[in-house]
Amino acid sequence: MTVQLRPGDPITVDVALAGRAYDIVIGRSLLAGLGARVAALRPGARVAIVTDDNVAKQHLAQAEASFAQAGIEASRIIIPAGEASKCYAVFERVCEDIVAARIERGDLVVALGGGVIGDLAGFAASTVRRGVDYVQVPTTLLAQVDSSVGGKTAINSRHGKNLIGAFHQPVLVLADTALLDTLPERIMRAGYAEVAKYGLISDADFFAWLEANWRDVFAGTAAREHAIAVSCRMKADIVARDERETGDRALLNLGHTFGHALEAAAGFSDRLYHGEAISIGMVLAFAFSARRGLCSPADAERVVRHLAAVGLPTRIAEIPGERPDADRLIELIGQDKKVKRGRLTFILARGIGKSFIAPDIDVADVREFLTGQLA
Ligand code: NAD
Repeated sequence: MTVQLRPGDPITVDVALAGRAYDIVIGRSLLAGLGARVAALRPGARVAIVTDDNVAKQHLAQAEASFAQAGIEASRIIIPAGEASKCYAVFERVCEDIVAARIERGDLVVALGGGVIGDLAGFAASTVRRGVDYVQVPTTLLAQVDSSVGGKTAINSRHGKNLIGAFHQPVLVLADTALLDTLPERIMRAGYAEVAKYGLISDADFFAWLEANWRDVFAGTAAREHAIAVSCRMKADIVARDERETGDRALLNLGHTFGHALEAAAGFSDRLYHGEAISIGMVLAFAFSARRGLCSPADAERVVRHLAAVGLPTRIAEIPGERPDADRLIELIGQDKKVKRGRLTFILARGIGKSFIAPDIDVADVREFLTGQLA
């Protein structure tokens, strides 16, 4: 775990990818300096800012002012907020608008928004003119600790989420933690599930720190920057080791096998946000690990206690509306993950901070476990 810095110091995390290394800069009120950073990184470039209508209302003016101050020509592309915008029609519009804004090689796309904007604008940047560079300015907690880092970009297909996409690393990530002050509390909480995930994957000290300091992370003190920096550092390390997810990067999917199935069962709607699904998914991954004698029931209980204290859902029963049965969840898991001869790869845990890739889990065991959870 990193040492906590003084409030006000921006923290820089390096994503060490050979030939495509970039910085994640984390701190309060950094948006005003975005133009100056872009001017230093890419002198003479013009930019197209892609954002959604919610974020535009709150933060676009400041982003545009910072570009104007740095003498950078900036166009704006505003799309409707929400997951539904990760589709072909909006992707086409964004690509056409980027071309119309005369963004050429050497210019930049700027993704100003949450994970939806980062995924969509990043994917558009990866394809327009066979690839232009882009900057991530994440405005949700989830985007600051997860989706803006690592270069996965995508839109959704009728066959499933994120099926049409590309690996395309940004050239800079600017995480202004003050932007989270305007985030609705439920969306902030959902993003927090991904922060807790990093502790659960491989940093028990960080998890214990979160148990003691989570209120300050929400309040927006220096604890928020610290939590985001620790999370980004862990993601950056994993991505640098395994950019294309052929090994370790899969650890970042802790809670995601159950979580994605629950999200799909809830129709990817606001009945259950992604982070909320991951919260329940991590609880299930630890309960399943405890049932197999891999981790102690006390550790599994600690996970539930912390996520519930924060206000995140921890049980399938908390999802409003119709509840799926175990067979339906298994079917959805099978659509999301490869099942080979009745076996699945899961991320399980030997304790808090001790997650590992378990490649040979019997689907029948998972069904039995889920039946018990739904009883
Ligand atoms: P989101 O982008 O839809 O943002 C959530 C809501 O918050 C939206 O209504 C948005 O308009 C609003 N919002 C954003 N910033 C705001 C601010 N500062 N103030 C007020 N409102 C604000 O959702 P998200 O949770 O950020 O991201 C979810 C997406 O991220 C999903 O599509 C998921 O697939 C993707 N994702 C991608 C990766 C990756 O590695 N690429 C990782 C995890 C998740």
